[in-house]
Amino acid sequence: MIKTKRNTQALSQAQIDYCETVWDVLKEGHDFIRLDCTRASQPASLTSYKPDDKTIYVGANVFPAINTTDPHASLSVLACLAHELAHAERDKLCIRRNMQGIEYYIEEVEACLHASCYLVLNDYDRQQLYLCASDILCLEVIGYDN
Ligand SMILES: [Zn+2]
Repeated sequence: MIKTKRNTQALSQAQIDYCETVWDVLKEGHDFIRLDCTRASQPASLTSYKPDDKTIYVGANVFPAINTTDPHASLSVLACLAHELAHAERDKLCIRRNMQGIEYYIEEVEACLHASCYLVLNDYDRQQLYLCASDILCLEVIGYDN
C-alpha cells in the first residue's frame, strides 16, 4: 500500500466488524489468505499483506480519508482490501518484485490493476483503482530518477 493520507484514527469495533464483513465477500475462493484485524484498533496503524504468514493485516488506514480527491486516499475499504488481496494472489503466483526503489511502485501499480479485475467491485471502486495506478505510474514510476 502506498503511503498517502488515509484514515489514521483507531478503528471502532463496528468498523472492524465491517472490515470482516467486506473480507467475507472478497475472500471467496481465497481461503489461503488470513485477515488479521488485531492492529486496527491502534491509531495510525497500516494495512499490509505479509507474505511470510500469508496474512493481510488491517490497520486504521484501511478506511479512506474524508474530503479528499486523491484517488489512493479515497479508496474504499473494499478497494483497499482488494488491493492487498491482489498482492497476496501475485505472491501465490510467484510474481514477486523487489520491494525497494522503482520496483516497489511498479508492484503497487500492478496490484491496483490486478485488484480492478475482481468482479465484486463496483464501477466506482474499479475506476478509483485505475486512477490510483495511473497516479503512481505518472508520479512515481515515470518520474523516478535513481
Ligand atoms: Zn500495495
